[in-house]
Amino acid sequence: MSKETMQFETEIQQLLDLIIHSLYSHKEIFLRELISNASDAMDKLKFKSQTDQAILGDDTELKIQIETDEKERTITITDNGIGMTRDEIIENLGTIAKSGTKGFVEALSAKDKGDSSMDLIGQFGVGFYSSFMVAERVVLTSKAAHSDSAYRWESKGDGSYSVEECDQAERGTKVTLYLKESSENDDQDYTKEWVVRSSVKKYSDFVTYPVLMDIERQETPTDDDGKPIEGAEPVKKIETETLNSMKPLWNKRKNDVKEDEYKEFYKHLSHDWNDPIDTIHLNAEGILEYNALMFIPGQAAFDLFTPENKSGMQLYVRNIFIMDNCEDLLPVYLRFVKGVVDSSDISLNVSREILQHDRIVGKIKKNLVKKVLERLATMLEKERETYIKFWGAFGQVIKEGLHSDFENREAIADLLLCSSTTGDDLTTLQEYVERMPEEQKDIYYITGEDRDTLVASPHLEMFKDKGFEVLLLTDPVDEWVIQGLNEYKEKSLKSAAKGDIDFKSEDEKKASEESNKKVSEEFSGLISFIKTSLEDKVADVRISQRLTGSPVCLVAGEHDMSASMERIMKAANQPVPSNKRVLEINSDHELLTRMRDLYGSDGESDDLKEFSELLYDQALLTEGSKVVSPETFCTRLTNLMLKAVSA
Ligand code: ADP
Repeated sequence: MSKETMQFETEIQQLLDLIIHSLYSHKEIFLRELISNASDAMDKLKFKSQTDQAILGDDTELKIQIETDEKERTITITDNGIGMTRDEIIENLGTIAKSGTKGFVEALSAKDKGDSSMDLIGQFGVGFYSSFMVAERVVLTSKAAHSDSAYRWESKGDGSYSVEECDQAERGTKVTLYLKESSENDDQDYTKEWVVRSSVKKYSDFVTYPVLMDIERQETPTDDDGKPIEGAEPVKKIETETLNSMKPLWNKRKNDVKEDEYKEFYKHLSHDWNDPIDTIHLNAEGILEYNALMFIPGQAAFDLFTPENKSGMQLYVRNIFIMDNCEDLLPVYLRFVKGVVDSSDISLNVSREILQHDRIVGKIKKNLVKKVLERLATMLEKERETYIKFWGAFGQVIKEGLHSDFENREAIADLLLCSSTTGDDLTTLQEYVERMPEEQKDIYYITGEDRDTLVASPHLEMFKDKGFEVLLLTDPVDEWVIQGLNEYKEKSLKSAAKGDIDFKSEDEKKASEESNKKVSEEFSGLISFIKTSLEDKVADVRISQRLTGSPVCLVAGEHDMSASMERIMKAANQPVPSNKRVLEINSDHELLTRMRDLYGSDGESDDLKEFSELLYDQALLTEGSKVVSPETFCTRLTNLMLKAVSA
């Protein structure tokens, strides 16, 4: 196939422009990104080789090589990993094939360019493109395992790239950067051996494959006794050196690892450019021997909610990489945790299927979950600000655990943060319970789209009067989450918008029995009138115990779907069961008492019918739902206003 020139996907070009024009301060990390990619490519090859020995061929020593050329101003990084086919090259290096595309473009256009773009790039893991921070031209050649053909990709980062077939005997990938003229200090010149060496040491020391470089030395010849021969011309000698120590950080003792080493390892592992907000390093000894190193990122990766993303954990057995994305080490609701587990108690030949039922792995998983949850609880207690940031990024994921991890449900419930009627700050359930007045028996919540609508909701009027706090749940998953929780510290969670709520004590009930009876009788005619008028819309009409200011509200049955859930289902084009709700009326409201009187004087009044319809629409609007026919609603309102103006 001849050379083809193609355009980058718009988002990639946007990203490249950003890299080329806006990012100056972190140039040196390009090497780390390329070494990480090479290391990932070898991990992939190794994983495949477990079931397909032939994939390695004769080329069994996995390594990364770095070559520099001062004259040509190039640096080349070569690996003998899995390599890429032509299609893979195009997909990986020309498109954002990853499902985060849309989010990425949105985030990109929403943010100001500058420092914040660093976060963004980190979040989307676009390591390879960082080459363009230092290079004016990048050439990549690659030969995929089991493939006979190799391909060459080239670009200047200016909108297009080319792909053509090329000669390359060995499996793997070679990336050559044609470096920009360095106007800066020598320590930014990546054709210099010492610059490369110190960068590898700093950022990639723990990479588990050797990073090799041919080092040229001038040596004075020695005599037979090893003494330098005086006056002899020094000779050039080339030696291949391994630049990284390859010591797996996780197998070191906790006290022997520096904070910076953890941070760099995290960046290597996660492709995030920012520091983690917490690091958990465990050296377990005794019955179960393993080392684990886990990190809690400060921000969500772009693919947090893609179905393929099930785990951020890698499994090693005695320093040997076994597999990536190992969901048997941490449950899916902790998939944002990035880390490594290394155990000498697991067999080297372990497969995903075996892992699932492995008792040892099961025990390790249990411990890891416990540790992560404990650590988060400590963060919540001691570093509230950091935890709030964490919650913003991963709260939604943690909530999944209430449905999937029965064993740790209490611990997960302790980690929840919710908005509430008490103030602008988020609250934990524990704090809510501590604030509960003695007479309050249950924990109350209401679900909806946004805090402001919820706060103004007529359903909360009586709660406000009683001084009962209500949790305001605005995350679309909350309704489902609450169902998974049901109760906390032996207190039921009850919706403020569902069921018949009556806060009166037995004594109060007795005292008001007479007057209630009277009100019921007075209103019974109007109630049946409204009920008949709205027959196809409401299940019942009754006098409300929760309203103090508004004339009406709609209430779902205890076990029915709430209005907010209905809206979510409708928005997702899901079938919504036709649950009619109960219209509650406020018998103390002037509008209702007047309607009662009007009904008394004219039980057939056309106006009353119109009012009933308007009351129903009003109830929909105040809870944040849409009226069924805005047009009819407006006509009714207009007619009413006309009447009022003309009166
Ligand atoms: P990331 O590494 O975060 O996925 P990159 O932009 O660095 O993003 O790389 C995109 C993809 O290109 C990688 O996911 C990988 O599939 C492929 N790739 C990059 N470098 C190599 C390499 N040296 N060998 C094989 N595949 C590679």
